[in-house]
Order: sequence, then structure tokens, then C-alpha cells
Amino acid sequence: MSKSVHQLHKEAFVVDTHCDTPLRIDEERADLGVKSNEGHNDFVRMKEGGVDLCFYAIFTRTKLSPDQSTVQAIRLIGETKDMIEANSDKVALATSVREAREIKNGGRGAIMLGMENGSPIQNDIALLNEFYRMGVRYITLCHSAHNQLCDSCAPKEKKWGGLSPFGKKVVKQMNKLGMIIDVSHLSDDSFYDCLKYSTAPIVATHSCCRALCNHPRNMSDKMIKDLAKNWGVIQINFYPAFLSDHYGCAEYFEAADAYDSAMKAYWRSGKKGKKEIADFKRKRDYIKKNFPSPSYKLLVDHIEHVVNLVGVDYVGLGSDYDGIEMPPLGLEDISKFENITKELRFRGYTDLDIKKILGENFMRVFSQVENIAFR
Ligand SMILES: [Zn+2]
Repeated sequence: MSKSVHQLHKEAFVVDTHCDTPLRIDEERADLGVKSNEGHNDFVRMKEGGVDLCFYAIFTRTKLSPDQSTVQAIRLIGETKDMIEANSDKVALATSVREAREIKNGGRGAIMLGMENGSPIQNDIALLNEFYRMGVRYITLCHSAHNQLCDSCAPKEKKWGGLSPFGKKVVKQMNKLGMIIDVSHLSDDSFYDCLKYSTAPIVATHSCCRALCNHPRNMSDKMIKDLAKNWGVIQINFYPAFLSDHYGCAEYFEAADAYDSAMKAYWRSGKKGKKEIADFKRKRDYIKKNFPSPSYKLLVDHIEHVVNLVGVDYVGLGSDYDGIEMPPLGLEDISKFENITKELRFRGYTDLDIKKILGENFMRVFSQVENIAFR
């Protein structure tokens, strides 16, 4: 008799490679030790969702000066570590594949640090080395603007035509340290430069398929094939705007942005401000009416697209929770992760394949990155 979905999900090593949850600690003073209805992720809901390893993004906004971004990154790392330490019965910080697995075996959740936007390392390899020592294990080289390392996918006018000269040095040093190169947010040329210059496989920690949703943040079939040829992995993002063309339009981004600000003002007001409540509800109702959230099954379509294109070994999950406004129905927060396992089982995937998608594919790449560093 086959295992129940719940049993399979519990056994699997489940990884989410991208959550913006440190922002909620920093900006909303969120306490991740208690189950909340706010945001999408805390240590309690992570456990309920059977997620064993979660990457917390040390994200710095593109408008910050280099020094401001360095300070902000250090602050976010400090706040995240403080939160982990205050909840050491539930979670622990991991800095390697082995540590992450040991933490799961001990019955706790593993948290790892990924840096989103390489601005904080400025033009200084010593800063890169130091962020590695602080526990950062991947760097999304840029965000929605070009930086000192490479071009972003967002602005039409490009600056470097791929990686900058210093970006190439950073890629080399990241290989040496055993840090994962994350190509989400990068321009296509930057992606190809990373493939060219990295001796280790690379990862898109939170991106989807352009064939199903034509957005520059997503990867073309050719890019996915070339990523897979290099043993890398694409971790599917839960953001509706990257899942379907219906959401990937200017009107949605505008409405979603307004909703996000209204929601944050509402939380900040301690849910007491009458104006904040009214504004939040009005924007929520607008978005619900005009852009009803899609089903989580849409996300499984993206997984399946990658599987059909290159096989089952090159795809995983990177939710972007707490960085997106409205996740799909059925994946409202991290506690719902088991629905993905249920849907994959329903679509006829074997237990082994499901385990690969849930986390083993990413862990394989991470091990390869570590092995290259240690050589
Ligand atoms: Zn992102």
C-alpha cells in the first residue's frame, strides 16, 4: 500500500528557497515564535507546513546607497539571528547541507540566510567573505535595478551587458567559498554570464517559466535547458504575476502595490485606525474582484512544464512568501505546503520524484556547490 500524502510529505526534506520574512521582523516587529494571521510565514506555520529548510532573504532596496545597504544587510542578519535564538526550541540557523539535515532530524526547522541584491558587498571581496562568515549562503546578484555586479532583468536599457568585471570576480569567489549563485532577477545576459563563469551549478531561487507567463522575471525554455545542462535548478515562485499572463500586467502590479501598502499601514496601526481599516478593505476588495487569486494548481503546471522540458531533477520551490501580496488559493501561507505534495501525487508523480521536487533537487545542487568549494 502506498504511503499517505501526509506521511510522504513528512518524510521528504522540504525546502523553500526564498522568503522575505526578515522584512516583517524589521518593518513590522513581527514575532515569528507565535502563530500569526499576518504575513505568510512564521516558525509555527513553517512546522505545520512540514517545511524543513527555509531561506530568509537579506533583502536591501535598490534605492539605498552602498553604505546604507551594507548596514541594512547587517541589521537584517542580526534581527533574524536574534529571532532564531529566541525560538531555539523551534528552529536553528544552518550554514551547510549537513547542518540543515541534522536540524530536521532533531525535530526543528532549519533557517538559512540568502542575500537578495548584492549591493551590500559594495566593491569589496572582504565584505563578501565576511557575509559568508555571517552565514549567508546564496546571493541573488541583483534586484530590480542594475548594480555594481550585473544587469537586472527589469530596466530595458542595460548597463553592463551581463556581469560587470567585479561581478565576474564575485562569481569566482562565491565558487571558492561555497556560496550559491542565484540568478532570479538577473537579465538574460547576466544569467548566461553566470553559467559561463561559474564552475558550480547555479540556482534561480524564485522564478517561473516564461512559456507559461511571459514576464522578464521568468526563464525561457532555452534558459531552463541550459540551466539544467549545467546541473542547476529552478525554484518555482508562488507569485500570481509570474504564474499567469492575466496577472502580469501593469494594472495588477499597481493594484497589488497599493494593496500591500494599505495592508502594512493596517498592521502598523495595530488594526485600530479607522482610516487604515477602511483603506485596506477597499483595496483588498478591489483586488479580489478584479484579480481573484488563481489556484495553487497553476504553480504545479509550472513544475510540470520544467519536468516535461528537462526532466524531474531540475525544479523545486521558492515561494517568495512575505515578498508577494497575494499567494494563490490553496497556498495562502507556508502552513499549506502539503497541498503541493497532494497535487503532485494526484498527477501521478512517484514518491521519489515528489521528494526531488520538494527539496532534494536543490539539496543536490547545494552539495555540489559545497564540494567544489572544498576541493
Ligand atoms: Zn525577489
